[in-house]
Formats: sequence, C-alpha cells, structure tokens
Amino acid sequence: MFVGHYSVAFAAKSDKNKIPLWLLFVAVQFLDYIWATLVLLGIEKLRVIKGFTAGSMLDSYFHPYSHSLIAAILWSSVAAIGYTSLCSRFGYPCRKSAALIVGVAVFSHWILDFLAHPRDLAIYDNRWKVGFGLWNYRGPEFALEIAMLVGGIILYLARNAMSKARKMAVIGFGIALVVVQIGDTYVPRTPLSDEATAMGVWIFYTLFVIIAFLLEKVRSRKQINAL
Ligand SMILES: [Zn+2]
Repeated sequence: MFVGHYSVAFAAKSDKNKIPLWLLFVAVQFLDYIWATLVLLGIEKLRVIKGFTAGSMLDSYFHPYSHSLIAAILWSSVAAIGYTSLCSRFGYPCRKSAALIVGVAVFSHWILDFLAHPRDLAIYDNRWKVGFGLWNYRGPEFALEIAMLVGGIILYLARNAMSKARKMAVIGFGIALVVVQIGDTYVPRTPLSDEATAMGVWIFYTLFVIIAFLLEKVRSRKQINAL
C-alpha cells in the first residue's frame, strides 16, 4: 500500500477537529518512517527483488519493530500520547478525540498494509506472519489504492470549507499522487538497494507532508489578503 494510506489522512481531517493535514500525513505513514529509519540503521531488513509480487518489489522479511501488530499498537499509542503532550505547545486542538484520531490514523497503516502485503506482517516479534496479499494482484491492488485516495479526497473536500484555489490545489495534488502510484505500480525499473529504498521513503513521504502543509496555507493566505 502506498498512496492509499493518504486517503485516511484526507478522510480524517475536518473543520471540526482542526488537526493539521500535514500531521495526519505523518501519522498515516508513521510506521514506514520508523521502518525506513530502522532499515537505514541496519536493524530491520529488506530485500528489493524484481517481480517479488506483481505490485511491489519489497521483500520485508524482518520488520518486527515497525510492522508487527503489537508494534503498530504501541506506536499508535505513542503517537496519541505524544500528540496529547505536545498539542497545546503548538496550538493544535487538544481534545481527547483529536489524540484518538491521530492514534487511529497511525494504526490504519497496519490495516492497509495487511490488505496489500504478502504474509510478511508479524503479529508480534517476527512470528505468526499475516497479510492478505493484494500485491499479488496488480490491477485490484492499484484500483483499491486509487479508489481509497479518491474517496478520502472527496470526504476532505466535503468536510472542510475552503477557497476555490485550495480546492483546485487539493485536486491537483490528488492527481499527482495518482501519477506517482501509476509509476510505482506499472513503470518497470531496476530495483534500488535497501538503503536507497529507505532514503526514498524518507524523501518522498516528507515531500508529501510539505505539500499537505502548503495546501492548508492556501486558504490562510487568501484570508490574509481579504483583511
Ligand atoms: Zn508499511
């Protein structure tokens, strides 16, 4: 699962909860940030094999600290508690429901990875591996990613009042994410090393976080101009 994760961030954000979209973008990929960091540190292991599954080259044969079910529950709790302790300092909404949304957004990553991954997600430690394996079916997996993304963006547009400029920017970003997913699923390429893959995760995911941050500035700038 790749861009499908962002559907949860888009769907979770509303004018009511006021959680920044960029923060939800970090939350839904929090487990992958930990994973990429641990791969770079040599603690978690990854092989990049051409044709490993129809939709992905990643053989994540050892990632218990970022992607086991128990680890996912722990990291989701850490994120919710971390959000609770830092929200007031940054002026973000501090209701319990906001912290819960952040925690659930982190956990959603595991659920969606469960749908896509072959049996490489451990329940705890490196044991009892599960995974529905949609990555073995390129078309359906791609369709699910796109359908989820579109659904998430529709919800985001419906639940957040915004200027036309921001609406267009959101749709443009959505189209860009679809193009990224087409590239990831369908464009043949030579496998990168495990370290380059992990670096790519950091770079691309952070780029998306920055775009999500800028998206929600579009309206602010308009408001400032209106004053
Ligand atoms: Zn993942």
